[in-house]
Amino acid sequence: PADTEMSIELIRNQVNPDDMENVVIRSYYEALTAGNYAYEARITWPDDSQHWIRVKGVVLSDEKKNPYRMLGTVVDITESKRDEIRKNDFIAMASHELKTPLTSLKAYIQLLESKLPASSDPFIATALSKASNQVSKMTALVHSFLDLSKLEPGKLQLKKQAFDINKLVEEMIAESRAIFNTHMLQFKVTEPIMVSADKEKIGQVISNFISNAIKYSPKGSSVEITASVANSEAEVSVSDCGVGIRAKDREKIFQRFYRANEAAVKHVAGFGIGLYLSSEIIQRHKGRIGVESSEGKGSRFYFRLPLA
Ligand code: ADP
Repeated sequence: PADTEMSIELIRNQVNPDDMENVVIRSYYEALTAGNYAYEARITWPDDSQHWIRVKGVVLSDEKKNPYRMLGTVVDITESKRDEIRKNDFIAMASHELKTPLTSLKAYIQLLESKLPASSDPFIATALSKASNQVSKMTALVHSFLDLSKLEPGKLQLKKQAFDINKLVEEMIAESRAIFNTHMLQFKVTEPIMVSADKEKIGQVISNFISNAIKYSPKGSSVEITASVANSEAEVSVSDCGVGIRAKDREKIFQRFYRANEAAVKHVAGFGIGLYLSSEIIQRHKGRIGVESSEGKGSRFYFRLPLA
């Protein structure tokens, strides 16, 4: 009610503790250097109902650059947030349900392949192997939808372990070769580079870089993958000789559903979620992700992680 006296503690207690720690405090802290803040958080009303707010503002500083005031707005976005959550739940459910039939489809194709006598019509063998590749692609897509829905606050859990990044790169290259054998994938193993990270998720990032390099470069061209150490960080990079990315798109391709240069890549299947997921995964590991590219010549995607 308007006549209630509110202390700063009372206000803070209304904010969901998880968001308080991971979102609110962090954005105010960053605001001191960036000069502005913007975040979304969950709050509890006096009647115990849950609401979402979007907060945006600036930090005002005096001539000596000492911050003295924060000025901003708070908007209740509960309705649109509920729609978003419903949509995400639907994606999660639908992709979860699609997983099982796909797995059995894949198993049946493999069974057929193994029962096929060597002497039979070569067309059947080719058709089965193409069917199997398409099922693998679809499975990867369904998995990425599922991951997308897990990015809700607090849902993406990292299972960290120490491992050699070279080994993981090799595994991912082997997997990619099994799905696409249209490009020359080149990689030189180095000394072991140990990182402490979620192996499966970092594997997804590598595999996403490789499949993009293949998708957006001509058949038969080469894709170079490197693993290295610089400034006590591990770096993995994937370079291709493909279509490249225009400067104005370079920042945006890490956003959800963003696809650059629609006209040129119309024939390439995709939803614009791979790089968004990759960047979320790397950020949650306190790493960095980026791209260098020159249009028409090719791109180099990389990520860096702290060494173990
Ligand atoms: P998708 O490939 O499914 O569209 P991504 O999130 O993986 O989604 O990539 C987003 C966009 O970034 C792509 O649509 C494409 O325009 C651009 N892109 C990604 N990788 C490359 C690459 N290696 N070369 C050129 N463009 C790329």
